[in-house]
Amino acid sequence: RAKQLGRNRYCLYDPAMAATAVQRLQMAQLLRQDMEGERLYLMLQAQVDIEGGRHVAAEALLRWAPASGPEIGPAEFIPVAEESGLMLSLGRHVLQLVARLLSERRDLLESELRLAINVSPQQLVDARFPEDVQRLLRETGLPPPRLELEITESALMGSPEESRRALLQLKSLGVRLAVDDFGTGYSSLSHLKHFPVDAVKIDRSFVQDLDRNAGDRALVRAIIAMAASLGLECVAEGVETESQVQLLREMGCHLMQGYLFAHPMPYNEMPLWPSLRRIEPEYRRLH
Ligand code: C2E
Ligand code: MG
Ligand code: MG
Ligand code: MG
Repeated sequence: RAKQLGRNRYCLYDPAMAATAVQRLQMAQLLRQDMEGERLYLMLQAQVDIEGGRHVAAEALLRWAPASGPEIGPAEFIPVAEESGLMLSLGRHVLQLVARLLSERRDLLESELRLAINVSPQQLVDARFPEDVQRLLRETGLPPPRLELEITESALMGSPEESRRALLQLKSLGVRLAVDDFGTGYSSLSHLKHFPVDAVKIDRSFVQDLDRNAGDRALVRAIIAMAASLGLECVAEGVETESQVQLLREMGCHLMQGYLFAHPMPYNEMPLWPSLRRIEPEYRRLH
């Protein structure tokens, strides 16, 4: 009983927890203010095909630089936006940033590169979202198959039926759909065939220990095989080492994204053909 009391007290009065709640509130307030200005901006990270030796896509990743304090990453502020009712406006703002990016990067627009953007669970099921995407396509002239929407596996599994309907509607616009952070959402691999998606992105956490962890190797191998049998493309996230490249290649995965190839960088600085400096000599020759 004493223990229980102690625990209750801990929950109610822990100063660390109180501070966190306050910080999150403050963060939401600052985020709301910064939604209009230049403090939210996009970085781009390259996605490469190591067999074809080509740069195939760029993923837009949101950044926030508040007036005071250090830059904050989306893993921290996206959840705050979701819980404070800001996510839909933030998501719309991202689409506007993407439109501006494409107007400034005519070279990217006129290339064959795909542009990938991340979609939050709340956006996915927002009735206005498909119109917003359609407007983006119309305004920028980006061909629909070159826009890829990334939705995390856990978002899809949160409400599978609703998600499936939303995906079907988006798919009818002609855009590409990818399941992000695949392997972390506790869905069985067979769930995937119910969703009209084009690609899966293997979560970085499984790629990270590929050369040390036999369990991760088995899982990644299974994901790659399943993706192939469903006719889906498979992208490995967070590739940082040559040995990861080697293992992924042997397993049949040739689309990769990660620091080994390119870090996310300011969108006006990303080259369309990043030099794949640290990649094996045979690929280097392709560039
Ligand atoms: P994500 O979509 O899975 O993006 C990949 C994350 O991994 C990015 O983190 C990227 O910077 C990082 N990354 C890429 N390569 C490597 C690597 O080789 N090693 C390591 N350690 N990390 C790598 P970031 O930019 O902090 O984004 C985190 C998450 O925030 C994203 O995960 C995405 O789910 C979400 N996010 C980013 N931008 C947006 C956005 O505009 N809207 C929404 N709704 N979510 C976003
Ligand atoms: Mg992503
Ligand atoms: Mg991911
Ligand atoms: Mg992630």
